[in-house]
Amino acid sequence: MANMEAMLVGHLRATHYLEAILKKKTWAHGYLFYGPARVGKETFALAFGRSLVCEKARGVLGGCGRCETCQISDLRLANRFFCLRPGAAAVGDQEKEPKKTITIGQVRELRRWLFLASEKIRVVLIDWAEALGGDAANALLKILEEPSGGTVFILISASPEYILPTVLSRVAPIRFGLVADKEMQKIEGATDEAIFLSRGRPGILFSILENRELLAEKKKLQKIAEMAYGGSIADAFLAAKILADDAEDREVALGHILAHFRKDFISLEGAPLAGAIGRAKLGLRAFAALQATNVNPRLAADVMFLNFRQPISMLKDKSKITI
Ligand SMILES: [Zn+2]
Repeated sequence: MANMEAMLVGHLRATHYLEAILKKKTWAHGYLFYGPARVGKETFALAFGRSLVCEKARGVLGGCGRCETCQISDLRLANRFFCLRPGAAAVGDQEKEPKKTITIGQVRELRRWLFLASEKIRVVLIDWAEALGGDAANALLKILEEPSGGTVFILISASPEYILPTVLSRVAPIRFGLVADKEMQKIEGATDEAIFLSRGRPGILFSILENRELLAEKKKLQKIAEMAYGGSIADAFLAAKILADDAEDREVALGHILAHFRKDFISLEGAPLAGAIGRAKLGLRAFAALQATNVNPRLAADVMFLNFRQPISMLKDKSKITI
């Protein structure tokens, strides 16, 4: 696949780990690639899958790129990959959030596919694995419990806490965290500004580089975060209103805010420090609640942004938020 190597940004520890097991051919039956949105979980899962089916088996993520299998652009058509995700859209689509759940019907389709006899290594990619509905999760569990021959399952999730524990116990977890700026600088065409606005998420950076209009959007988001942090209470409420329904933007905004928060923390001591720590705890709890499905997002966003405001002693009189 063209450009796959260029898409593999950061995640050096995960890369070393995966390449070591590829070299030793000691891979597990199933994996969970988890971590924040847009950091590259899906790209690395595809690359790992490609190296599993590569005929040369060089032990390098992405495969050799030259053998017959590596030259197939869509491995699903060759029956080597099977991809599951909500709404049955193809893996690689840039949807921000799942529209639906992964249904029992989709898992049954996977089961039928697995019944097709094959001596070759096959890969099942399950993106948005937290969107497996109850029946679907149980059906998948049955599949995971059976011997799979040469099939390797890779689950991908930004919210693994919503995956059935029995499913989780069947897969080896590999964490994909935020990517350091110095790794992001290796991306061709990346500017300091675009890197800053991407907050450790190569997926956002690639999107900005593909579509420059996104840069203005991400700048606006950064401004909202600045005002939520250093502006008035009304500004914090306004930020909560704007970001209550967009998980990805909210996470990026929180990234901007936490960068300020950390800097300001250093100069605090005594009661103001204790107060700031207390508010940070409340803010993070509200942020965690926002990831759950059964909370009022607006209310939780209000609590989050109100608690992640600049310590009062440092607040300057800043002009009201303008968008
Ligand atoms: Zn190959």
